[in-house]
Amino acid sequence: MVLKIQKNHGTANQKLVKQSNLTLVFNYINENQPVSRASIAHATGLSPTTVSSLVDELIVESMVLETGVGKLSGSGRKPIMIEVNPSGGCVVGVEIKAGRVDFEVFNLEGRSLLYHERIISDYSNLGDIISCEVERLCNGFGRLLGICIGVPGVIDRKTKRVLSTLIPIKPDNDFFSVLCKRFPDVKIKLGNESSYCAYIEKAESKKGIRDLVYIDINVGIGAGIILDNRIFTGAFGNAGEFGHVSVDINGRACKCGNRGCLEAMAGTPAICEAAGVTKISEIDTSDEKTLEKLHDIGRYIAAGINNIVNMINPEMVILGGEIVKLGEPFLEMIRRELETIMFDVQSEKISVVYSSVDGNPVTKGAGRYLLDRIFEDGDFIIE
Ligand SMILES: [Zn+2]
Repeated sequence: MVLKIQKNHGTANQKLVKQSNLTLVFNYINENQPVSRASIAHATGLSPTTVSSLVDELIVESMVLETGVGKLSGSGRKPIMIEVNPSGGCVVGVEIKAGRVDFEVFNLEGRSLLYHERIISDYSNLGDIISCEVERLCNGFGRLLGICIGVPGVIDRKTKRVLSTLIPIKPDNDFFSVLCKRFPDVKIKLGNESSYCAYIEKAESKKGIRDLVYIDINVGIGAGIILDNRIFTGAFGNAGEFGHVSVDINGRACKCGNRGCLEAMAGTPAICEAAGVTKISEIDTSDEKTLEKLHDIGRYIAAGINNIVNMINPEMVILGGEIVKLGEPFLEMIRRELETIMFDVQSEKISVVYSSVDGNPVTKGAGRYLLDRIFEDGDFIIE
């Protein structure tokens, strides 16, 4: 997904070019294996000498293996085929959420090896909890290469501290630097969870879509934005705080201090309240009376989507999170509302769909994002 040819770059130093080329070669092998050195050179545009030296480095690092002799096409020697070494190391995707931290361990091919939920109530020692769990869970899966953490909140790009209305984390909680001290040689990245949801959605099933918005609707609401094939995070890294876009200036008060925020008006607590249930899974939207109770919620969500469409004009809007449990009748209701309020020229073109990712999109997206950049420096989502 991040394949881009970078044989040379005027301003980048040698290290950056090498990291970029290692990424290019490793990702090509991962997506096309088994492959020969010659086919890597042909596909990437790198010289055969550069490819050989990069592949040798990956072999020394145990990240790829020579797996045998391939078929001869033409004259000369039969090529030696290269594959990713599935047990050459692992990465962990982490989601910090209310009352729980979820972990998913992946091998170098991106295959999920295990999933673990850790219940927590005290967030003051979050750094130690994550460190201990990562060490314990990765034991036996080879070298730990990276940890990528998704959070439901805004992140101070400089201090790596998190502000959230959804998790009881204090502004001075220093979990990120605890992790960096505990794992000095491991890549550690931090980002908003919705960005990882958008990333995995595109990587798994929406590769051809350049501009999409993933709206994650749970207790909280956030958006992951992909523009021109890249995660868009804005000047300070916190674009996509869509839950705090107001859809009613006289609406109910939100924890952030504003009124009528989408999160307050259409998050799962508001949905359950409107339907008169305690859990979203209890709602049967094939019943017309039940669906009617959710009409205002659908209007708020449609108003939010309309705002985002008018602002950045994506090709697709994907709704994910618990809202998917409301099924097709609810989605149809949102589409009908959009047809009423949106410019025709927009509504005819845009698709509004539910997420198609199985499992936890945050841990999966975090793991995939990290694997796609395993040779690159940087600790924060900056595309
Ligand atoms: Zn708010």
